[in-house]
Amino acid sequence: MPTEDTALREPQARTWRRDFAPYERCVPLARREVEQALARWGCTEEEVATAALVTGELAANAVRHAHVPGRPFTVALTVGDGGCVVEVTDPVTAPPTAVTPRPDDERGRGLLLVEASSVAFGYRSCPGGGKTVWAALAAQARAVCGERTWLPERLTAAALRCGTGEPAEPADVERELRCTLEAHTTGDHHAFVRELPGPDTGAVWTRWIRGHPPTTLLTLPDCPATSPTPCADFADHPGAHSWHLTTNDPKSPHTSPE
Ligand SMILES: [Zn+2]
Ligand SMILES: [Zn+2]
Repeated sequence: MPTEDTALREPQARTWRRDFAPYERCVPLARREVEQALARWGCTEEEVATAALVTGELAANAVRHAHVPGRPFTVALTVGDGGCVVEVTDPVTAPPTAVTPRPDDERGRGLLLVEASSVAFGYRSCPGGGKTVWAALAAQARAVCGERTWLPERLTAAALRCGTGEPAEPADVERELRCTLEAHTTGDHHAFVRELPGPDTGAVWTRWIRGHPPTTLLTLPDCPATSPTPCADFADHPGAHSWHLTTNDPKSPHTSPE
């Protein structure tokens, strides 16, 4: 089955598409692949879940109402700043039927669910026959954590000596710390402290829990995600990549400088 993933080639448009055989068993497979693609792009759990739900309903519709033996259905994703568009293309040109389900009819609910989950929903005929049913899903606003504190004197001195070679200049060490991860209620806060010289050397970070000063420095590799712009957080960080996050008003530091 052909796969297309333009995430690395085209920095502005993140798109993904894949063909699936027109069978019921491929519906959960399509959902899973959509989940994986969106998670890879740093979408939130809620966005991934909504897109997977919509994909499942549109794919089930394609399999049940537009089945042509030997002709696949295609699932495509486009993710931009405005949100995610899910498209499912099948080989039957007739428009998707909007049915009014009976209360006990689970199958008829598909398109109503899609409509309820999306900000816009429609279909278009394909030039060579068949149709594409699409649903646009809104992007969720994601706030950066923004929790603030100060780097203790002892760690400032240690940060100057991190890495190989000459000690850094005091101006190279960030003392006024601000957690740059997606807003979170569990886990440590993390803040960037200092860039390390040289390529692929990562950066110095620190972490803390609210109400306590940082006690340790960490040398962490950079997050490898670079589309649409390089992610400013460390590798395997929790939450969305930095380009998804919107800055909130800075909070007051919880501790004062020493
Ligand atoms: Zn935080
Ligand atoms: Zn990242």
